[in-house]
Amino acid sequence: MPAATARSRTCTRCEQPKSPEEFYPYSHGWCCDCYRAKALDRYHRLKPAAKRREGKAQTRTEKPCSDCKKTKPIEDFARNRAHRDGRDNLCKPCQKTRRQARAAEARAEMAGCGR
Ligand SMILES: [Zn+2]
Ligand SMILES: [Zn+2]
Repeated sequence: MPAATARSRTCTRCEQPKSPEEFYPYSHGWCCDCYRAKALDRYHRLKPAAKRREGKAQTRTEKPCSDCKKTKPIEDFARNRAHRDGRDNLCKPCQKTRRQARAAEARAEMAGCGR
C-alpha cells in the first residue's frame, strides 16, 4: 500500500513517525516539534550574547580613531554592528575622507574604462 507509506514520515531528529503535515518544509526532515525546539534553543542561546555586547558598548564613552589616532567621544564614530563595541574604528571625519578618496578612485577607474 503506497498510500500508507506516504502518510507517515520519520523525523530524522526524534525518530518518531509523524504525518507529513507535521513536518516543517525547510527543516531537513525534522518534525515541527523538533524544529521549534531547536529554534527556541537557539533564541535562548543568542539572547545573553547580545546582552553582553550591549553592555560593552555602553561602558565605552570614547576610543581612539584607527586613522588619525586621536581619542574621540564614542558619538564621533558611526554605528557599526559588525564591530565588537558597536561603532566604527574610524571617526566620522576620517570616514568621510576615506569615502571621498574611494569615490575619486572609482571615478578614475571608470574614466580609464572608456579607452
Ligand atoms: Zn521530531
Ligand atoms: Zn579619525
